[in-house]
Amino acid sequence: MRAVGLHADVVVATSRAYQTTCTLVRAGGEAFCIDSPVFPDELEIVPALAEQAGFTVVGLLATHADWDHLLGRYAFPDAPLGCAETTAARLVSDPGNAQRKLREFDEELYVERPRPLSLPSAQRLPVPGKLEVGERELELQPTDGHTEDGMAIWVPWARVLVCGDYLSPVEIPMIQGKGTLSGYLATLDRLEPLVEQSDHVVPGHGPPIDGARAAAILREDRGYLEALRSDGEAAKLPLARRTAEQRKIHARNVAHTGSHTR
Ligand SMILES: [Zn+2]
Repeated sequence: MRAVGLHADVVVATSRAYQTTCTLVRAGGEAFCIDSPVFPDELEIVPALAEQAGFTVVGLLATHADWDHLLGRYAFPDAPLGCAETTAARLVSDPGNAQRKLREFDEELYVERPRPLSLPSAQRLPVPGKLEVGERELELQPTDGHTEDGMAIWVPWARVLVCGDYLSPVEIPMIQGKGTLSGYLATLDRLEPLVEQSDHVVPGHGPPIDGARAAAILREDRGYLEALRSDGEAAKLPLARRTAEQRKIHARNVAHTGSHTR
C-alpha cells in the first residue's frame, strides 16, 4: 500500500487491490476516513498511519455502497459510518451484498480476515450539503451513473476532490447495477467545476492525480460515454486505458446500456 500526503490535512493510501483509495481528512483535531483499502494487512496499518500523521479518526465516510469501499470498520471498529442518503438506501435495500462480494473476493484470493464485516446502520448525510469536521466544512455533491448512489467530497481548504468511482486514471467509466449513462454524464458535468478548482483529485481507483490530469480524464470519459451512447460496441476506449480488463468493462457497459434506458 502506498501512502501520500496531499496537504497537511489530507493523506491518501492506495490499496494493492484495484488501487482502491482510502483518504484521511482532518480539521481541528478530528478526522474522517473516506473509503478503505482492501487487504487485511493494509486495513491493519491505517490506524497507525493516521496516528503517525496526527489524525484522530472520529468517523467513516463511504463514497458509495460498493463492497471494496466499505471496509473501514476493519481499521476503526467503533467508528460510525456516514454516507449519502442514496447509499444508505442501497445498503438497506440489499443487505448482505457487501459481505457476499467480500467473501467471493476473499475465497478467490485465499484471504483470511480477523472477523466478518460488520456494517453499522449508516448515518444519512444531506447531499448536496455540508459536513462539519473540526472547525471546517466538507462539501458533499451527489454522484450517480457508476451506480445509482453516492457522493463526492470536496475539501475546500485543501482543494482536494475525493470523487468515488469517477475520473480514474486506471479504469474506464463503469456503468453497473442501477447506474445509467445519462446519470454518469450529469455527474461529470457536476464534478467539472470542482475539478477545475482542485489541486488534487482522489479517484476511487488509482493514485491521486493533479487537477489538470483529472480535467483531461474527465474530457476523455465524457468522449467515451458519448461514443458509447451513439456507437455502442464500436466506441473507442481512452488511449491509456485499453487493456484486456478495460475491454471487458467496455463489453459490460455495452450490454448494460443496450438493455436500459440511455
Ligand atoms: Zn470501486
